[in-house]
Amino acid sequence: MGKVDKQCTKCKETKSVLDFNIQSRNADGRQSCCRSCTKELKKVYREENAAKIKNYNHVNRKYINARSKSYNKKNYEVIAVYQKNYYKENKELLLSYSKVYQKENKERITAQRKQRKMI
Ligand SMILES: [Zn+2]
Repeated sequence: MGKVDKQCTKCKETKSVLDFNIQSRNADGRQSCCRSCTKELKKVYREENAAKIKNYNHVNRKYINARSKSYNKKNYEVIAVYQKNYYKENKELLLSYSKVYQKENKERITAQRKQRKMI
């Protein structure tokens, strides 16, 4: 074992190598910044990135919402036809789904019907 102390390149304090995180690609096998500086850097980085990520999502949500709104408006008929066709083509499948659903949820459906009648 060679050096026991190491100077941090950020805070310029001389600390024990144990206060530096391991980084095998460095000559001495330790990071050039001490643990507390690394921690601070990471925190700042995360905070900066959090703002970026938030902003990115915000900007894109607006964009995505606007796009899907105009898409739905423009393609209303296409979507309606598509849904109709989908139902037609998958009628049996959809019916079998709803049969299974009704079978599995018999009591719940009966209770809901009763409730509706009461209203
Ligand atoms: Zn430091």
